[in-house]
Amino acid sequence: MSVFAHPDFDQHEQVVFCHDPASGLKAIIAIHNTHLGPALGGCRMFPYATETDALRDVLRLSRGMTLKSSLAGLALGGGKAVIIGDPHTGKSQALLHAMGDFIESLGGRYITAADSGTGDAEMQAFAQRTRHVVGASSRTTLDGSIASGDPSPSTALGVFVGLREAIRQRLGRNDLAGLKVAIQGMGHVGLSLARRLKAAGAELWVCDIFDANVQRAMDELDARVVRPEDIYGLDVEVFAPCAMGGILNEQTLEVLRAPVIAGAANNQLATPEIGAVLQRRNQLWAPDYVINAGGIIDVYYQRIGGSAAQIDAHVKGIGETLREIFQRAEQAQIPTSLVADRLALERVQAAGRPETGAQRLLA
Ligand code: NAD
Repeated sequence: MSVFAHPDFDQHEQVVFCHDPASGLKAIIAIHNTHLGPALGGCRMFPYATETDALRDVLRLSRGMTLKSSLAGLALGGGKAVIIGDPHTGKSQALLHAMGDFIESLGGRYITAADSGTGDAEMQAFAQRTRHVVGASSRTTLDGSIASGDPSPSTALGVFVGLREAIRQRLGRNDLAGLKVAIQGMGHVGLSLARRLKAAGAELWVCDIFDANVQRAMDELDARVVRPEDIYGLDVEVFAPCAMGGILNEQTLEVLRAPVIAGAANNQLATPEIGAVLQRRNQLWAPDYVINAGGIIDVYYQRIGGSAAQIDAHVKGIGETLREIFQRAEQAQIPTSLVADRLALERVQAAGRPETGAQRLLA
C-alpha cells in the first residue's frame, strides 16, 4: 500500500500509522496542512474492510478539513483520524487511551474531535491522555456561562444564513415568508434549521427514516411529512439535505428541480462532476463544507474560549463567504463547488508557505 503515490495523497504533511498491540488499536492520523494553524478534525471509528479503505478515507477527509477551516476564516489547518474497528464492540479504555497517547505525541499539530463512531465518552477518554481534544460535553465560556459541547445549533444557524443568501442570489428574495423548503433529515441540525425557517414564515416539507423524529416535526412545527423517497421530487424552492452524503447523484437529479440546494449534510455531491451538472441546470448549490462550517467554528471557540455572541457573529460570516462564491461563480459561469475549492486554497496559499496539491486547481 503506497501512501505517496496514493490517488488521494495531496502533499499531506504527515500521515501517522498508529498501532498498539496490547489494546489492539489500529488507527491512522492524517495531517493535511497546517499553514493556517494546527490541524483540527474529527476522529472516526469505522469497521473498514481494508486498511486501504481507511487510508483513502483519512486522506480525503483531512484535505476536506483544510478547505473547510480555510473558508470558515479559522486559524486552523486540516486533519483527521480514523480508528479501524467496530464502534459498537471494538472500544476499550485501553484502546482509547492508546489513541490519546498517539494524539499527544504529535504535540498539538493535530487536535481531535468527535465524529461518526465517537462521541463525548471517547473525547473524555482521550482527554485523560492528551490536551489536544475538543468537544467535551460541556464547557465554560469566557463570559462564564456554561454551554453544551454539541455544535449542531451553530451548524443550523450557518445553514440558515447561507440558505437566505442563496435565495437572495438565485431567486432575488429577501423574505422567507411563504418560501417552500424541503428538509431531508430531522436530526440535530435538520430540526434546529426547521425551527428557524418556521419562525421566519417558511412552509416546510420534511422526512426522516426515524419515526420519532418525524413525529416531533409534525407536532412542533406543523410541517408536512413525506416519505424519504419522495423528498427529492417536491415542487419547492429549496432542498435542504441534512441527513447523509452522496444524495446529489444521477438518480436524484432526475427528479430534483429545486432552484436552490442548501443544507448541512457532508459530501453531498456523489461525484465532483455533479457540481457542473447543477450549474448547467441553473440550480444554485451552496457548497456543503462552506454552509455547514458553523460546527467547526463552534468547536474552534470551544478550544480558544469565546462567548455565544462571538460564535454567532463568526457563524453569520458564512453568508458573506457564500455571497462571494455565488457571485464569482455567476461571473465566470463555473460551478460553485470549483469556486469554493479555489477560494479555500487561495487562502491557504496566502498563508505564505509552499503549496500543496492546490496547483492543480489554481492552474
Ligand atoms: P443526526 O444523526 O442528528 O441527524 C441525521 C438525521 O437524518 C437522523 O434523524 C436520521 O434518522 C436521518 N436520516 C438518515 N438517513 C435518512 C434518509 N435516507 N432519509 C431521511 N432521513 C434520514 O445528524 P446531524 O448532526 O443532524 O447532521 C446531519 C448532517 O449534517 C450529517 O451529514 C452531518 O455529517 C452533517 N453535519 C453536521 C454537523 C453538526 O454540527 N452536527 C456539522 C457539519 C455537518
